[in-house]
Amino acid sequence: MECLRCNEKMIQANLRGDAVGTAVYLTNKKKGILETEKRSTVGCYVCPKCGYVELNADNAKKLILDFD
Ligand SMILES: [Zn+2]
Repeated sequence: MECLRCNEKMIQANLRGDAVGTAVYLTNKKKGILETEKRSTVGCYVCPKCGYVELNADNAKKLILDFD
């Protein structure tokens, strides 16, 4: 994957909060407590040259809510 700004080859990195091991997820959920949460992990890429960060859902299709 190349940087959108400068075309440098981007490297993969981890995006997380303060707590060690805290993964970042995209979630989606219908209203109602009985519904299970849809979740996709997020891949993070950073450009070593300009610092541009790109996030990419590893499984974006999982976030689609199926309405009846
Ligand atoms: Zn760049």
